[in-house]
Formats: sequence, structure tokens, C-alpha cells
Amino acid sequence: MALRIYNTLTRSKELFRPIHEGHVGMYVCGPTVYGDAHLGHARPAITFDVLYRFLTYAGYKVRYVRNITDVGHLEHDADEGEDKIAKKARLEQLEPMEVVQHYLTRYHKDMEALGVLSPSIEPHASGHIIEQIEFVKHILDNGYAYISDGSVYFDVRKYNEKHHYGKLSGRSLENTLENTRELDGQAEKRHPADFALWKKAQPEHIMHWPSPWSEGFPGWHLECSTMGTKYLGETFDIHGGGMDLVFPHHECEIAQSVAALGHESVHYWMHNNMITIDGQKMGKSLGNFITLEQFFAGDHKLLTQAYQPMTIRFFILQAHYRSTVDFSNEALQAAEKGLARLRDAYSRLGRIAAGKQSTVDVAGIWEKCMDAMEDDLNTPIVISNLFDAAKIVNSLVDQKASISQEDLGKLKELFTVFGEQILGLRLSEGDGNQTKAYAGAVDLLLKLRQEAKANKDWATSDKIRNELTALGFTIKDTKDGAEWTL
Ligand code: ZN
Repeated sequence: MALRIYNTLTRSKELFRPIHEGHVGMYVCGPTVYGDAHLGHARPAITFDVLYRFLTYAGYKVRYVRNITDVGHLEHDADEGEDKIAKKARLEQLEPMEVVQHYLTRYHKDMEALGVLSPSIEPHASGHIIEQIEFVKHILDNGYAYISDGSVYFDVRKYNEKHHYGKLSGRSLENTLENTRELDGQAEKRHPADFALWKKAQPEHIMHWPSPWSEGFPGWHLECSTMGTKYLGETFDIHGGGMDLVFPHHECEIAQSVAALGHESVHYWMHNNMITIDGQKMGKSLGNFITLEQFFAGDHKLLTQAYQPMTIRFFILQAHYRSTVDFSNEALQAAEKGLARLRDAYSRLGRIAAGKQSTVDVAGIWEKCMDAMEDDLNTPIVISNLFDAAKIVNSLVDQKASISQEDLGKLKELFTVFGEQILGLRLSEGDGNQTKAYAGAVDLLLKLRQEAKANKDWATSDKIRNELTALGFTIKDTKDGAEWTL
């Protein structure tokens, strides 16, 4: 395979060559679990899922590490303010780990619905405090950090004398300061660009651990350097995440690795672009913050309908991962139709009878799909080729073209390999019409039950309820009838 990927560090497409032949180590920054996952969480998860799937398809043994941030992610993203999880725990009177467990379970459920495969390892920051303390000790020993009132800060100016702080985001030390605000912790720092490796916990801070410097907690950037190298080695192949993490998070990761280990850890830095909603950035304060659950249920004022998880996945893959994606109901409805076209073609494949000769070029489409994937995961091109394949299917069903037995096998494989295995689309899942018919049938049963109840025919009403429950449905009586979920 000749995969070329765009490396944020060199700002160019590079031929992918793994450090260890046949093996790939990839690390992706995972969620900070203090709230429900939204559309912005779906994009990196799906982007790197496709990379994971493609590398696996190409025969690599991939170790995919995606971390869970459950400590140290402070409100102001840098290293000031209250810990996001601790704040949620305080407001809801829960243990911080209850907050983490609750949202992590929901995150996993959403990811499964989106067809995102589980990573090989999902390490928690709070489970690696000892390793993070060791990492800080190395940075201190090498002279790139200092202790200030129980906290440990990375000495950016000192680092920048020999190395370039800002190389990933293309900044100089001076312009890394542009957006730095004056915050309470600044007095402890020698330079405003310095960032926390270890923070001394204030008395009200509920998540803290003992360390040689203070009772405290690790800085947010530290967990990824520590856990990445713990599970993938001092140097590893790919590090991914959203573009919003380039600075300061990944910039700080590079500095930490160089300061602790004497060299950089990552060969290829990959970043997915952001999702906007009607051209605006998503944000709680803007009222356009839609969780994945809300998309699946159609339960948000900006949504005109519910969307299947696979529609969301298809919608995201219709754009190249380095382009922006703008959400609108129209765009999602178009994605829904597009996916239905592919599913329809996939289900019609079984109705095609092979002839002696092919008048269609299946090998050509296969090659274009492979070339597109190898060209920095160009999923929109793969999808447009799958649409061409769907046209071929229709012309074959209508007997306007013919296909050999061998090509027919290849055509089926094209949908299975590129559609299902690599893009991770569940093509055999019921299409929109099937889903509607199925929902209609369940609604009808519940209506019959209502009627039975109105006629005091308790035997029939109980029978319908019990048998639906046995099939896995949850029936909830409401004032105007009943609601169901599976
Ligand atoms: Zn990270």
C-alpha cells in the first residue's frame, strides 16, 4: 500500500512508512468526559476510525490508543480555572468518577451507534498519575521545568533557546502569547507562555494526589505524552486529534517529549477540521450545541427530524477530513438520501445474474477507490465512486448492461470492502423505508393495545405489552397513548 498522509508538522503529504514493519502505533486524543458527546466529538472519532480500519485492511497490526481525560482539563483549556469534571461533580453532588463513568458509558454507546470501532487501549489520565509524576521528574532533571509554590511549570523560554516552541502550529514564541490572558496562576510563572506540568491543589479542589511537590494533579497536556509513550514506545507513528488541539495541546506535547526524552515522539501528526452549524462554531452559549443523542432522537429546536447514526457518519465522510463541514438539516437530509441510494444498490446486488462478458468496468472503480483512500483518506472521492458503482448495479438489474461472474464477485466486494469495512457504513442495515415500516408496525400494535384497553380487554392488552417487552422493547404509557424504545 502506498498511503500518503498530510503531516501537520511538515505541512505536506508524505508517504507513510511505519517505524516497525507491519505494525502501526497510533494515538488519538479522546474526550474529556464531563458531558454528552456532540457532533464535534463524532468527527475525530470517525476520521481516525477510518484510518484504523484502512490500515487494518491493508494488513498492518495496529495498536490504537485513544485516551480518556478524566482529570486535569481545566476550564480555560490552558491550565487555569476549575477542573471540568470536578466542577460537574460539585454541581451534581457526585463523586468525580461517577461523572466520568456516566458520560463514558454514554460516549461508548454513541460511538457504537456510529460504527466507530473500539480502540486497542483506552487509558484514563487518572489511572496514570505515577507515570505522569515520573515524566515530570525527567523534565525537571533535564532542566526544562521549575517548581513554584508546589506547582511545576514547563520553562518555555529555556526550551525555545535550543528548540522551536511553536513548530507544529507555525508560531514563534512571541506570537504564542497573543491569546494568553492574565489569569491568577500567572504570578507563579516565569514567563506567560509557561504551562503547568503539575498543579498544587487548592483546598476546594476535590481531585488530588500526593507528589514530591505538593498534593495536586497533573497538567492536561502531560497525560498524552505520558500515555502515548507508555503504550506505543518513545517514538511512534501517528498522533491524531482535532485541529483545535494543535495549539497549545499538541505543541506542549512535543515540547514535553523533547524535554523528557531528548527527542520527538511522533512521526506523523494528523488533524481533522471542525464542524460548524449554519456557518457558526458550536458552543453552549450560542444555543447550537446539539448532542449525538439529540440527533438520533430529533430532539433539538434546530433539528427538523431525527437522523440515524449512519446518516451522521455518512455526512461526515462526505467531506475530506481536513475540510470544514457545515451542518444543516438540508445537508443531513441529502446525506440520508445518498446513503439510502447505496443501501438500495447493495440490496439489489443479489438480484443480478452474471453473463459471459462484462460491459462495465468494475476494476476501474476499485482502483479509483483505492487511489482515493491512499491519497490522504479522500473519503468523498470513495463515496462518489460508490455512487458510480450503484449506477452500474441499477443498469445491471435493468439489464441495460452485463457482467461476468468474476466481475460480479468483485462488484459485491467493492461495496463490502470500501463501503462497510473501510468507511464503516452499515449498508445491509435497513434503509429509511424499512425503518419507517418497522416503526409503523410497532405503532400499530400499540394502537391495538390502546383499543383493547379501552374495551377493557386486558388479556389482549397485556399480551401485546408482554410480548413486545420480551422482544426487547420498552413501553412507556403516556397520557395520549404509549411510547416505545428498543
Ligand atoms: Zn491529548
